[in-house]
Amino acid sequence: MRILVVDDSPVIRYALEEVLVSAGHSVTTVPNGIDGLEVIHQKEFDLMFLDIDMPNLSGLQVCRMLRNDPKFRDFPIIMLTARDQKQDQYWGMETGASAYLTKPFDRQNLLEKVDEVMTDYEKKRERAREMVEAIPLLKAEETDDVVFKAGELQETQLFKMTLVNKIYQIANTQRDLQDTCRSISDVFSAVLDFDLAMFLLTDEDRIKLFVYVYKPISRDFFMAVKKKMIEEFKEKSGAISISTDNAQVELHDPGHNMLKETDAVDIMGIESTLLESSSDKFGMFTMARSANGVFTPEEKATCELIASRSSIVVDNVRMYEKIKRFAVADGLTGLYNHRYFQEQLEKEYSRARRFNLSLSMIMIDIDHFKKFNDEYGHQLGDVILKGIAAILRRSVRDIDLIARYGGEEFVVILPETPKKNATIVAERIWESIRDNEFPYKDGFLKVTASLGVSGHPDDDIKTQLDLIAKADEAMYRAKKTGRNCVVLYSPEGRP
Ligand code: GH3
Ligand code: MG
Ligand code: MG
Repeated sequence: MRILVVDDSPVIRYALEEVLVSAGHSVTTVPNGIDGLEVIHQKEFDLMFLDIDMPNLSGLQVCRMLRNDPKFRDFPIIMLTARDQKQDQYWGMETGASAYLTKPFDRQNLLEKVDEVMTDYEKKRERAREMVEAIPLLKAEETDDVVFKAGELQETQLFKMTLVNKIYQIANTQRDLQDTCRSISDVFSAVLDFDLAMFLLTDEDRIKLFVYVYKPISRDFFMAVKKKMIEEFKEKSGAISISTDNAQVELHDPGHNMLKETDAVDIMGIESTLLESSSDKFGMFTMARSANGVFTPEEKATCELIASRSSIVVDNVRMYEKIKRFAVADGLTGLYNHRYFQEQLEKEYSRARRFNLSLSMIMIDIDHFKKFNDEYGHQLGDVILKGIAAILRRSVRDIDLIARYGGEEFVVILPETPKKNATIVAERIWESIRDNEFPYKDGFLKVTASLGVSGHPDDDIKTQLDLIAKADEAMYRAKKTGRNCVVLYSPEGRP
Protein backbone atom coordinates (compact mmCIF):
# COMPACT_ATOMS: atom_id res chain seq x y z
CA MET A 1 0.00 0.00 0.00
CA ARG A 2 1.04 3.55 -0.61
CA ILE A 3 1.15 5.26 2.73
CA LEU A 4 1.70 8.92 3.50
CA VAL A 5 3.16 9.82 6.89
CA VAL A 6 2.64 13.38 8.13
CA ASP A 7 4.56 14.09 11.32
CA ASP A 8 6.88 16.87 12.45
CA SER A 9 9.02 14.50 14.53
CA PRO A 10 11.91 12.96 12.52
CA VAL A 11 12.13 10.12 15.03
CA ILE A 12 8.51 9.14 14.53
CA ARG A 13 8.76 9.51 10.75
CA TYR A 14 11.75 7.19 10.72
CA ALA A 15 10.22 4.64 13.07
CA LEU A 16 6.95 4.53 11.19
CA GLU A 17 8.67 4.19 7.84
CA GLU A 18 10.72 1.31 9.14
CA VAL A 19 7.69 -0.56 10.48
CA LEU A 20 5.54 0.00 7.42
CA VAL A 21 8.22 -0.74 4.83
CA SER A 22 9.16 -3.96 6.57
CA ALA A 23 5.49 -4.93 6.36
CA GLY A 24 5.67 -4.45 2.59
CA HIS A 25 4.19 -0.98 2.13
CA SER A 26 5.66 1.94 0.25
CA VAL A 27 6.01 5.05 2.36
CA THR A 28 6.27 8.79 1.73
CA THR A 29 6.96 11.07 4.67
CA VAL A 30 6.42 14.81 5.07
CA PRO A 31 7.18 17.02 8.10
CA ASN A 32 4.03 19.20 8.28
CA GLY A 33 0.37 19.52 7.46
CA ILE A 34 0.74 21.89 4.54
CA ASP A 35 3.14 19.57 2.74
CA GLY A 36 0.83 16.72 3.60
CA LEU A 37 -2.11 18.39 1.89
CA GLU A 38 0.02 19.30 -1.10
CA VAL A 39 1.39 15.79 -1.59
CA ILE A 40 -1.90 14.04 -1.12
CA HIS A 41 -3.41 16.18 -3.84
CA GLN A 42 -0.56 15.41 -6.22
CA LYS A 43 -0.12 11.68 -5.83
CA GLU A 44 -2.38 8.74 -5.14
CA PHE A 45 -2.23 7.21 -1.68
CA ASP A 46 -4.11 4.45 0.07
CA LEU A 47 -3.72 5.61 3.64
CA MET A 48 -2.40 8.47 5.74
CA PHE A 49 -0.78 8.65 9.15
CA LEU A 50 -1.40 12.02 10.67
CA ASP A 51 0.14 13.65 13.71
CA ILE A 52 -1.96 16.26 15.52
CA ASP A 53 0.45 18.76 17.06
CA MET A 54 2.44 20.26 14.23
CA PRO A 55 3.51 23.81 13.40
CA ASN A 56 1.25 25.94 11.15
CA LEU A 57 -1.51 23.52 10.41
CA SER A 58 -2.55 20.95 12.99
CA GLY A 59 -3.52 17.40 12.11
CA LEU A 60 -7.07 18.19 13.16
CA GLN A 61 -7.22 21.00 10.63
CA VAL A 62 -5.74 18.81 7.90
CA CYS A 63 -8.23 16.09 8.66
CA ARG A 64 -11.14 18.49 8.65
CA MET A 65 -10.10 19.94 5.31
CA LEU A 66 -9.77 16.52 3.74
CA ARG A 67 -13.13 15.40 5.07
CA ASN A 68 -14.73 18.47 3.61
CA ASP A 69 -13.53 17.38 0.17
CA PRO A 70 -15.77 14.72 -1.39
CA LYS A 71 -12.74 12.91 -2.78
CA PHE A 72 -11.35 12.32 0.70
CA ARG A 73 -14.56 11.83 2.61
CA ASP A 74 -13.76 8.18 3.36
CA PHE A 75 -10.02 8.19 2.81
CA PRO A 76 -8.22 6.19 5.54
CA ILE A 77 -6.64 8.57 8.03
CA ILE A 78 -5.00 7.22 11.16
CA MET A 79 -4.22 9.86 13.72
CA LEU A 80 -1.04 9.06 15.59
CA THR A 81 -0.46 11.48 18.40
CA ALA A 82 0.99 12.07 21.82
CA ARG A 83 -2.38 13.37 22.95
CA ASP A 84 -3.68 10.51 25.03
CA GLN A 85 -6.65 11.95 26.87
CA LYS A 86 -10.06 10.51 26.29
CA GLN A 87 -11.31 13.91 25.21
CA ASP A 88 -8.51 14.15 22.60
CA GLN A 89 -9.45 10.82 21.13
CA TYR A 90 -13.10 11.83 21.05
CA TRP A 91 -12.28 15.04 19.24
CA GLY A 92 -9.95 13.30 16.80
CA MET A 93 -12.64 10.82 15.82
CA GLU A 94 -15.24 13.57 15.75
CA THR A 95 -13.03 15.51 13.35
CA GLY A 96 -13.07 12.56 11.01
CA ALA A 97 -10.16 10.22 11.82
CA SER A 98 -10.66 6.61 10.74
CA ALA A 99 -8.64 5.46 13.75
CA TYR A 100 -6.80 7.04 16.65
CA LEU A 101 -3.49 5.76 18.02
CA THR A 102 -1.29 7.20 20.70
CA LYS A 103 2.48 7.44 20.90
CA PRO A 104 4.55 5.51 21.69
CA PHE A 105 2.97 2.97 19.39
CA ASP A 106 3.03 -0.80 19.47
CA ARG A 107 4.28 -2.29 16.21
CA GLN A 108 1.80 -5.15 16.06
CA ASN A 109 -1.10 -3.04 17.13
CA LEU A 110 -0.27 -0.42 14.52
CA LEU A 111 -0.14 -2.90 11.64
CA GLU A 112 -3.40 -4.45 12.77
CA LYS A 113 -4.98 -1.00 12.78
CA VAL A 114 -3.77 -0.44 9.22
CA ASP A 115 -5.45 -3.67 8.11
CA GLU A 116 -8.60 -2.87 9.99
CA VAL A 117 -8.92 0.62 8.53
CA MET A 118 -8.17 -0.66 5.02
CA THR A 119 -10.79 -3.41 5.26
CA ASP A 120 -13.28 -0.86 6.36
CA TYR A 121 -12.29 1.39 3.50
CA GLU A 122 -12.69 -1.39 0.94
CA LYS A 123 -16.34 -1.49 1.79
CA LYS A 124 -16.76 2.17 0.99
CA ARG A 125 -14.39 2.06 -1.93
CA GLU A 126 -16.91 1.75 -4.69
CA ARG A 127 -18.40 5.03 -3.73
CA ALA A 128 -14.98 6.60 -3.32
CA ARG A 129 -13.92 5.41 -6.76
CA GLU A 130 -16.91 7.04 -8.35
CA MET A 131 -16.00 10.25 -6.62
CA VAL A 132 -12.42 10.09 -7.87
CA GLU A 133 -13.67 9.78 -11.39
CA ALA A 134 -16.12 12.57 -10.98
CA ILE A 135 -13.71 15.02 -9.45
CA PRO A 136 -10.35 15.62 -11.11
CA LEU A 137 -7.30 15.80 -8.90
CA LEU A 138 -7.01 19.17 -7.32
CA LYS A 139 -4.07 21.32 -8.19
CA ALA A 140 -1.41 21.81 -5.58
CA GLU A 141 -2.38 24.76 -3.50
CA GLU A 142 -0.23 27.64 -2.39
CA THR A 143 0.81 27.54 1.24
CA ASP A 144 -1.00 30.75 2.12
CA ASP A 145 -4.05 29.52 0.34
CA VAL A 146 -4.10 26.32 2.36
CA VAL A 147 -3.82 28.12 5.66
CA PHE A 148 -6.49 30.55 4.56
CA LYS A 149 -8.78 27.72 3.57
CA ALA A 150 -8.24 25.92 6.86
CA GLY A 151 -9.24 29.06 8.70
CA GLU A 152 -12.23 29.55 6.50
CA LEU A 153 -13.33 26.00 7.04
CA GLN A 154 -13.08 26.38 10.77
CA GLU A 155 -15.08 29.55 10.56
CA THR A 156 -17.79 27.72 8.62
CA GLN A 157 -17.80 24.92 11.15
CA LEU A 158 -18.08 27.37 13.99
CA PHE A 159 -20.85 29.20 12.20
CA LYS A 160 -22.81 26.00 11.82
CA MET A 161 -22.32 25.11 15.45
CA THR A 162 -23.43 28.54 16.53
CA LEU A 163 -26.61 28.19 14.52
CA VAL A 164 -27.33 24.77 15.95
CA ASN A 165 -26.72 26.14 19.43
CA LYS A 166 -29.11 29.00 18.79
CA ILE A 167 -31.85 26.55 17.89
CA TYR A 168 -31.23 24.45 20.98
CA GLN A 169 -31.30 27.56 23.13
CA ILE A 170 -34.81 28.19 21.90
CA ALA A 171 -35.71 24.73 23.15
CA ASN A 172 -34.42 25.54 26.60
CA THR A 173 -36.67 28.50 27.15
CA GLN A 174 -39.91 26.53 27.55
CA ARG A 175 -42.22 28.38 25.24
CA ASP A 176 -45.36 27.50 23.32
CA LEU A 177 -45.47 26.34 19.75
CA GLN A 178 -46.08 29.75 18.23
CA ASP A 179 -43.28 31.36 20.16
CA THR A 180 -40.90 28.55 19.30
CA CYS A 181 -41.65 28.72 15.59
CA ARG A 182 -41.33 32.49 15.52
CA SER A 183 -37.93 32.35 17.22
CA ILE A 184 -36.74 29.70 14.79
CA SER A 185 -37.99 31.69 11.85
CA ASP A 186 -36.01 34.65 13.15
CA VAL A 187 -32.85 32.54 13.21
CA PHE A 188 -33.49 31.54 9.60
CA SER A 189 -34.05 35.13 8.65
CA ALA A 190 -30.88 36.29 10.39
CA VAL A 191 -28.72 34.17 8.08
CA LEU A 192 -30.80 33.77 4.95
CA ASP A 193 -32.35 36.35 2.70
CA PHE A 194 -36.08 35.92 2.09
CA ASP A 195 -39.32 37.90 2.14
CA LEU A 196 -41.64 35.35 3.62
CA ALA A 197 -41.31 32.25 5.77
CA MET A 198 -43.93 29.72 6.75
CA PHE A 199 -44.21 26.82 9.12
CA LEU A 200 -46.73 24.18 8.23
CA LEU A 201 -47.58 21.85 11.09
CA THR A 202 -50.02 18.99 11.09
CA ASP A 203 -52.35 18.81 14.03
CA GLU A 204 -54.37 15.60 14.05
CA ASP A 205 -56.44 15.87 10.89
CA ARG A 206 -55.83 19.49 10.02
CA ILE A 207 -52.94 21.85 9.50
CA LYS A 208 -51.63 24.96 11.16
CA LEU A 209 -49.76 27.61 9.23
CA PHE A 210 -47.52 30.13 10.94
CA VAL A 211 -46.66 32.90 8.52
CA TYR A 212 -43.82 35.39 8.98
CA VAL A 213 -43.50 38.38 6.72
CA TYR A 214 -40.11 40.06 6.66
CA LYS A 215 -40.33 42.29 3.59
CA PRO A 216 -43.08 43.97 1.59
CA ILE A 217 -45.02 41.39 -0.39
CA SER A 218 -48.38 41.26 -2.06
CA ARG A 219 -51.22 39.06 -0.95
CA ASP A 220 -50.97 37.20 -4.25
CA PHE A 221 -47.35 36.38 -3.50
CA PHE A 222 -48.35 34.97 -0.14
CA MET A 223 -51.16 32.92 -1.66
CA ALA A 224 -48.86 31.54 -4.35
CA VAL A 225 -46.21 30.50 -1.81
CA LYS A 226 -48.85 28.96 0.43
CA LYS A 227 -50.27 26.94 -2.44
CA LYS A 228 -46.86 25.69 -3.49
CA MET A 229 -45.95 24.82 0.06
CA ILE A 230 -49.05 22.75 0.68
CA GLU A 231 -48.62 20.93 -2.61
CA GLU A 232 -45.03 20.15 -1.81
CA PHE A 233 -45.85 19.03 1.69
CA LYS A 234 -48.48 16.63 0.43
CA GLU A 235 -46.05 15.26 -2.09
CA LYS A 236 -43.01 14.93 0.16
CA SER A 237 -44.82 13.71 3.25
CA GLY A 238 -47.29 11.45 1.50
CA ALA A 239 -50.08 13.04 3.52
CA ILE A 240 -52.31 13.37 0.49
CA SER A 241 -55.53 13.20 2.43
CA ILE A 242 -54.79 15.94 4.92
CA SER A 243 -57.41 18.65 4.91
CA THR A 244 -56.25 22.14 4.06
CA ASP A 245 -59.61 23.89 3.94
CA ASN A 246 -59.87 24.51 7.64
CA ALA A 247 -56.21 25.38 8.12
CA GLN A 248 -55.53 27.62 11.08
CA VAL A 249 -53.43 30.50 9.78
CA GLU A 250 -51.46 32.73 12.14
CA LEU A 251 -49.96 35.74 10.48
CA HIS A 252 -46.98 37.51 12.03
CA ASP A 253 -46.41 40.75 10.26
CA PRO A 254 -45.24 43.33 12.76
CA GLY A 255 -44.00 45.64 10.00
CA HIS A 256 -47.37 45.54 8.19
CA ASN A 257 -45.61 44.41 5.05
CA MET A 258 -48.37 42.25 3.70
CA LEU A 259 -50.70 45.03 2.65
CA LYS A 260 -48.12 47.41 1.31
CA GLU A 261 -48.27 48.32 -2.33
CA THR A 262 -45.57 46.31 -3.98
CA ASP A 263 -44.66 44.74 -7.26
CA ALA A 264 -43.33 41.66 -5.56
CA VAL A 265 -45.59 39.08 -7.09
CA ASP A 266 -43.46 36.44 -8.77
CA ILE A 267 -41.70 33.86 -6.69
CA MET A 268 -38.03 34.07 -7.50
CA GLY A 269 -36.67 31.59 -4.98
CA ILE A 270 -38.55 29.09 -2.89
CA GLU A 271 -37.11 26.39 -0.67
CA SER A 272 -38.96 23.89 1.49
CA THR A 273 -37.64 21.45 4.04
CA LEU A 274 -39.64 18.72 5.72
CA LEU A 275 -39.81 18.65 9.49
CA GLU A 276 -39.55 15.07 10.65
CA SER A 277 -39.51 13.17 13.87
CA SER A 278 -38.50 9.55 14.17
CA SER A 279 -42.09 8.53 13.63
CA ASP A 280 -43.56 10.96 11.14
CA LYS A 281 -43.20 13.84 8.75
CA PHE A 282 -45.16 16.34 10.74
CA GLY A 283 -44.52 19.61 9.02
CA MET A 284 -42.55 21.79 6.71
CA PHE A 285 -40.57 25.01 6.68
CA THR A 286 -40.72 27.13 3.55
CA MET A 287 -38.95 30.35 2.69
CA ALA A 288 -39.54 32.41 -0.43
CA ARG A 289 -38.29 35.58 -2.03
CA SER A 290 -39.29 37.74 -4.94
CA ALA A 291 -35.81 39.03 -5.75
CA ASN A 292 -32.12 38.08 -5.56
CA GLY A 293 -32.48 34.92 -7.59
CA VAL A 294 -33.03 31.33 -6.68
CA PHE A 295 -31.58 29.88 -3.50
CA THR A 296 -27.98 28.75 -3.93
CA PRO A 297 -26.73 25.32 -2.85
CA GLU A 298 -25.05 26.98 0.15
CA GLU A 299 -28.28 28.65 1.19
CA LYS A 300 -30.15 25.40 0.79
CA ALA A 301 -27.58 23.60 2.92
CA THR A 302 -27.91 26.20 5.66
CA CYS A 303 -31.68 25.92 5.50
CA GLU A 304 -31.40 22.15 5.74
CA LEU A 305 -29.10 22.41 8.74
CA ILE A 306 -31.36 24.73 10.71
CA ALA A 307 -34.47 22.81 9.73
CA SER A 308 -33.09 19.45 10.82
CA ARG A 309 -32.34 20.76 14.30
CA SER A 310 -35.58 22.70 14.42
CA SER A 311 -37.49 19.50 13.74
CA ILE A 312 -36.41 18.12 17.07
CA VAL A 313 -37.24 21.29 18.92
CA VAL A 314 -40.64 21.82 17.32
CA ASP A 315 -41.57 18.18 17.75
CA ASN A 316 -40.77 18.37 21.46
CA VAL A 317 -42.97 21.41 21.95
CA ARG A 318 -45.78 19.72 20.04
CA MET A 319 -45.52 16.66 22.23
CA TYR A 320 -45.35 18.75 25.36
CA GLU A 321 -48.47 20.70 24.43
CA LYS A 322 -50.29 17.51 23.57
CA ILE A 323 -49.46 15.93 26.91
CA LYS A 324 -50.44 19.09 28.72
CA ARG A 325 -53.75 19.12 26.89
CA PHE A 326 -54.39 15.46 27.63
CA ALA A 327 -53.77 15.97 31.31
CA VAL A 328 -56.38 18.70 31.68
CA ALA A 329 -58.81 17.98 28.88
CA ASP A 330 -61.78 15.71 28.66
CA GLY A 331 -61.22 13.19 25.89
CA LEU A 332 -64.67 13.35 24.33
CA THR A 333 -65.47 17.05 24.33
CA GLY A 334 -62.06 18.67 24.59
CA LEU A 335 -63.38 20.76 27.49
CA TYR A 336 -61.45 20.85 30.75
CA ASN A 337 -61.80 17.74 32.86
CA HIS A 338 -63.19 17.44 36.37
CA ARG A 339 -59.86 17.52 38.14
CA TYR A 340 -58.66 20.65 36.39
CA PHE A 341 -62.02 22.29 37.07
CA GLN A 342 -61.64 21.62 40.80
CA GLU A 343 -58.13 23.06 40.81
CA GLN A 344 -59.12 26.20 38.99
CA LEU A 345 -62.24 26.71 41.07
CA GLU A 346 -60.19 26.63 44.23
CA LYS A 347 -57.88 29.30 42.83
CA GLU A 348 -60.71 31.45 41.54
CA TYR A 349 -62.62 31.19 44.79
CA SER A 350 -59.73 32.28 46.98
CA ARG A 351 -58.97 35.08 44.56
CA ALA A 352 -62.58 36.26 44.72
CA ARG A 353 -62.49 36.22 48.53
CA ARG A 354 -59.19 38.00 48.77
CA PHE A 355 -60.00 40.80 46.34
CA ASN A 356 -63.69 40.99 47.13
CA LEU A 357 -64.76 39.98 43.67
CA SER A 358 -67.91 38.24 42.60
CA LEU A 359 -67.67 34.73 41.22
CA SER A 360 -70.44 32.65 39.70
CA MET A 361 -71.00 29.13 38.57
CA ILE A 362 -73.43 27.49 36.17
CA MET A 363 -74.22 23.78 36.37
CA ILE A 364 -75.79 22.26 33.27
CA ASP A 365 -77.43 18.84 33.05
CA ILE A 366 -79.05 17.45 29.94
CA ASP A 367 -82.66 16.39 30.41
CA HIS A 368 -83.65 12.75 30.09
CA PHE A 369 -80.38 11.90 28.53
CA LYS A 370 -80.63 8.28 29.57
CA LYS A 371 -83.77 8.00 27.50
CA PHE A 372 -82.04 9.68 24.61
CA ASN A 373 -79.24 7.13 24.74
CA ASP A 374 -81.68 4.26 24.96
CA GLU A 375 -83.55 5.52 21.96
CA TYR A 376 -80.73 6.62 19.66
CA GLY A 377 -77.70 4.83 20.97
CA HIS A 378 -74.66 5.86 22.92
CA GLN A 379 -72.76 7.00 19.86
CA LEU A 380 -75.28 9.59 18.90
CA GLY A 381 -75.37 10.54 22.57
CA ASP A 382 -71.66 11.30 22.33
CA VAL A 383 -72.24 13.46 19.27
CA ILE A 384 -74.79 15.48 21.26
CA LEU A 385 -72.33 15.93 24.11
CA LYS A 386 -69.75 17.31 21.68
CA GLY A 387 -72.40 19.59 20.23
CA ILE A 388 -73.30 20.90 23.69
CA ALA A 389 -69.60 21.58 24.32
CA ALA A 390 -69.49 23.64 21.13
CA ILE A 391 -72.58 25.62 22.19
CA LEU A 392 -70.98 26.33 25.56
CA ARG A 393 -67.78 27.55 23.93
CA ARG A 394 -69.77 29.94 21.80
CA SER A 395 -71.80 31.21 24.72
CA VAL A 396 -69.21 32.39 27.21
CA ARG A 397 -66.32 34.83 27.45
CA ASP A 398 -62.69 33.83 27.00
CA ILE A 399 -61.97 34.17 30.69
CA ASP A 400 -64.79 31.81 31.69
CA LEU A 401 -63.82 28.21 32.22
CA ILE A 402 -65.96 25.41 30.87
CA ALA A 403 -65.53 21.85 32.10
CA ARG A 404 -67.22 18.52 31.74
CA TYR A 405 -68.29 17.85 35.29
CA GLY A 406 -69.52 14.32 34.78
CA GLY A 407 -71.30 12.20 32.17
CA GLU A 408 -73.85 14.64 30.75
CA GLU A 409 -73.15 17.42 33.19
CA PHE A 410 -71.19 20.52 32.43
CA VAL A 411 -70.06 23.40 34.53
CA VAL A 412 -68.98 26.96 33.80
CA ILE A 413 -66.93 29.15 36.14
CA LEU A 414 -67.50 32.86 35.59
CA PRO A 415 -64.89 34.99 37.36
CA GLU A 416 -65.83 38.54 38.37
CA THR A 417 -69.44 37.96 37.47
CA PRO A 418 -72.37 38.60 39.85
CA LYS A 419 -75.17 36.01 40.10
CA LYS A 420 -77.56 38.20 38.17
CA ASN A 421 -75.28 38.39 35.14
CA ALA A 422 -74.46 34.71 35.38
CA THR A 423 -78.18 33.99 35.23
CA ILE A 424 -78.38 35.95 31.97
CA VAL A 425 -75.53 33.86 30.57
CA ALA A 426 -77.24 30.70 31.80
CA GLU A 427 -80.45 31.69 30.07
CA ARG A 428 -78.57 32.29 26.85
CA ILE A 429 -77.02 28.83 27.08
CA TRP A 430 -80.35 27.25 27.93
CA GLU A 431 -81.96 28.92 24.92
CA SER A 432 -79.13 27.91 22.57
CA ILE A 433 -79.38 24.29 23.65
CA ARG A 434 -83.15 24.33 23.35
CA ASP A 435 -83.09 25.84 19.88
CA ASN A 436 -80.16 23.89 18.51
CA GLU A 437 -80.91 21.37 15.77
CA PHE A 438 -78.55 18.41 15.93
CA PRO A 439 -78.37 16.81 12.46
CA TYR A 440 -79.76 13.28 12.41
CA LYS A 441 -80.40 11.23 9.27
CA ASP A 442 -82.39 13.49 6.97
CA GLY A 443 -83.65 15.70 9.73
CA PHE A 444 -82.50 16.78 13.15
CA LEU A 445 -82.87 16.09 16.84
CA LYS A 446 -83.30 18.40 19.79
CA VAL A 447 -82.43 18.21 23.47
CA THR A 448 -83.08 20.44 26.44
CA ALA A 449 -81.12 21.07 29.62
CA SER A 450 -81.69 22.17 33.18
CA LEU A 451 -79.35 24.78 34.61
CA GLY A 452 -78.50 25.85 38.14
CA VAL A 453 -76.71 29.06 39.01
CA SER A 454 -74.87 29.99 42.22
CA GLY A 455 -72.55 32.83 43.07
CA HIS A 456 -70.24 34.39 45.60
CA PRO A 457 -70.94 36.40 47.72
CA ASP A 458 -73.81 34.46 49.28
CA ASP A 459 -74.59 33.80 52.96
CA ASP A 460 -74.83 30.08 52.29
CA ILE A 461 -71.53 29.85 50.48
CA LYS A 462 -68.38 29.64 52.61
CA THR A 463 -66.11 27.46 50.49
CA GLN A 464 -65.71 26.64 46.83
CA LEU A 465 -67.43 23.34 47.55
CA ASP A 466 -70.51 25.25 48.68
CA LEU A 467 -70.47 27.04 45.36
CA ILE A 468 -70.72 23.68 43.59
CA ALA A 469 -73.28 22.30 46.04
CA LYS A 470 -75.55 25.31 45.65
CA ALA A 471 -75.34 25.30 41.87
CA ASP A 472 -76.18 21.61 42.02
CA GLU A 473 -79.08 22.29 44.35
CA ALA A 474 -80.44 24.94 42.02
CA MET A 475 -80.07 22.58 39.08
CA TYR A 476 -81.93 19.90 41.00
CA ARG A 477 -84.75 22.35 41.63
CA ALA A 478 -84.85 23.08 37.92
CA LYS A 479 -85.33 19.37 37.32
CA LYS A 480 -88.09 19.23 39.91
CA THR A 481 -89.97 22.15 38.51
CA GLY A 482 -90.29 20.44 35.15
CA ARG A 483 -86.77 20.60 33.60
CA ASN A 484 -85.78 22.74 30.60
CA CYS A 485 -85.24 25.90 32.64
CA VAL A 486 -82.74 27.99 34.64
CA VAL A 487 -82.83 28.31 38.43
CA LEU A 488 -80.75 30.70 40.49
CA TYR A 489 -79.92 29.39 43.94
CA SER A 490 -81.81 30.93 46.84
CA PRO A 491 -82.06 29.64 50.43
CA GLU A 492 -85.81 29.15 50.50
CA GLY A 493 -85.81 27.39 47.21
CA ARG A 494 -87.70 30.17 45.53
CA PRO A 495 -86.32 31.32 42.19
P1 GH3 B 1 -82.48 13.97 34.02
O1 GH3 B 1 -81.09 14.53 34.11
O2 GH3 B 1 -83.32 14.82 33.15
O3 GH3 B 1 -83.08 13.75 35.34
O4 GH3 B 1 -82.39 12.57 33.29
P2 GH3 B 1 -81.09 11.86 32.79
O5 GH3 B 1 -81.48 10.63 32.11
O6 GH3 B 1 -80.30 12.81 31.98
O7 GH3 B 1 -80.31 11.65 34.14
P3 GH3 B 1 -79.29 10.61 34.67
O8 GH3 B 1 -78.25 11.37 35.42
O9 GH3 B 1 -80.05 9.56 35.46
O10 GH3 B 1 -78.63 9.91 33.46
C1 GH3 B 1 -77.54 10.43 32.81
C2 GH3 B 1 -77.32 9.64 31.59
O11 GH3 B 1 -76.37 10.24 30.73
C3 GH3 B 1 -76.78 8.26 31.84
C4 GH3 B 1 -76.06 7.92 30.60
O12 GH3 B 1 -76.91 7.17 29.75
C5 GH3 B 1 -75.82 9.25 29.92
N1 GH3 B 1 -74.39 9.49 29.81
C6 GH3 B 1 -73.53 9.78 30.79
N2 GH3 B 1 -72.27 9.92 30.26
C7 GH3 B 1 -72.38 9.71 28.93
C8 GH3 B 1 -71.47 9.70 27.84
O13 GH3 B 1 -70.25 9.93 27.99
N3 GH3 B 1 -71.94 9.44 26.61
C9 GH3 B 1 -73.27 9.20 26.41
N4 GH3 B 1 -73.68 8.95 25.17
N5 GH3 B 1 -74.14 9.18 27.40
C10 GH3 B 1 -73.73 9.44 28.65
MG1 MG C 1 -77.00 13.76 35.37
MG1 MG D 1 -79.43 14.49 32.88
